[in-house]
Amino acid sequence: MKSVFLLLLLPTFLFAQTPSAKRITRHINKLASDKMKGRGTGSPENVKAAGYIAAYFRKANLTPLGTNGFYQPFTAKVRRVVVPDSLREATNVLGYLDNGAPFTIVIGAHYDHLGLGKQGSSLDSLPQGKIHNGADDNASGVAGLLEMAHYFSKNAVKEPYNFLFIAFGAEELGLQGSRYFLNNPTIPIAKLNFMVCMDMIGRYNPDRGVGIGGFGTSDTWPTVFKGVKSSIKFFTDRAGNGGSDNAAFYARQIPVLFFHTGGHPDYHKPTDDPEKIDATAEEAILKLEIQLIENAMQQPKMVFTPVK
Ligand SMILES: [Zn+2]
Repeated sequence: MKSVFLLLLLPTFLFAQTPSAKRITRHINKLASDKMKGRGTGSPENVKAAGYIAAYFRKANLTPLGTNGFYQPFTAKVRRVVVPDSLREATNVLGYLDNGAPFTIVIGAHYDHLGLGKQGSSLDSLPQGKIHNGADDNASGVAGLLEMAHYFSKNAVKEPYNFLFIAFGAEELGLQGSRYFLNNPTIPIAKLNFMVCMDMIGRYNPDRGVGIGGFGTSDTWPTVFKGVKSSIKFFTDRAGNGGSDNAAFYARQIPVLFFHTGGHPDYHKPTDDPEKIDATAEEAILKLEIQLIENAMQQPKMVFTPVK
């Protein structure tokens, strides 16, 4: 009786761990709502977003790996525009899944955005005071990060690698959170296997497909991609040194993968809104990402290759 019950339960149990468009939508609606005022670095709403992520990490039973629980606070600096409050409090949020393995895979996404358009880099003609919701950039990547934490912490598998999930602060001010982490690591850098970055994965365009950068950053990636199938279109790009926080890891000679669904007319504008996100496609992107990570875990710790 008991075993029959378990057999019936198992498929639902496993299914519940895989990425879901419904949860993705919920995360993005929360993080990119007008209430969050664009999650500008130094704003109370940015702190609120960090709190949302930390609460989720806690719920997923991750070990805090910041310097203050899940948080790794630092001071960010606005450099692109001259503002009286150029120094701003920022934080990374770090949750660790300890599988007792020698090496660790980093999965990251930045959670800050442009706030009310007063920190430079808005592409609106009159950005001041307008909420830059940043649904694609990068509530979509944070939703992906939370889904990865959910999947790997609840799949009842003890993987041969540990996972460090990092939500980076102050990316929009120039990769400041990822650089701060790498200069002040809470885990030895030599123990990191590779880094997977998600930045703007919510605007899947079937003509383009999802781009996966970093293919040239290790000779192991071609093996990892072999035989991988997806319901969505994807393509690889050898470069690993651009686009987002992955560039900071690449600079430290760590192999990377960078997921990105491409630019669009709402990029860095107040119109980057939640209702424009394709959560079904994002679910498929995350399933593809899981396949790749699981393939990569069949391989020994990767060796970095610089991309020319
Ligand atoms: Zn971004």
